[in-house]
Amino acid sequence: MSTSRHRRGSPSDRVCSRTVAAVRLAPVDDTEADPRPGDISELTKRMRDFTEERDWGRFHDPKSLALALVGEVGELAELLQWISAEDAVAHFAEPSRQARIGEELADVLLYLVRLADVLGVDLGAAAVSKLRDGATRFPPDEVRGVAPHRP
Ligand SMILES: [Mg+2]
Repeated sequence: MSTSRHRRGSPSDRVCSRTVAAVRLAPVDDTEADPRPGDISELTKRMRDFTEERDWGRFHDPKSLALALVGEVGELAELLQWISAEDAVAHFAEPSRQARIGEELADVLLYLVRLADVLGVDLGAAAVSKLRDGATRFPPDEVRGVAPHRP
């Protein structure tokens, strides 16, 4: 779904789209002054501050955030639609396309970070835990080169 079509959704969808769009338009020097701009805990704080400054927390219930996240995943998928798997990496190596897909990846990340924050989940710790679990479930010497289908 394109951004313009997405904005024709429900009022809460429009608020969420504006939230992410405004975050995306943050001044570049703002992130340059931040020593760890991509750190999950820093993104969590910035999204929380951004939301509180606008009194938009009332729209950020878990269900609405999950739906907004799915919408952004849809926008990401749309960029990949009709591009062959073999051509996708080269296609998005072109700078303007890389910037565009980076925007959608950021939208997904920001909603995911916000959803985790609202639910009280330490997303970084949860991800590290899942990586550890995956390392146990999929020992390299057993699965190297084999697609994971283990339940
Ligand atoms: Mg988007």
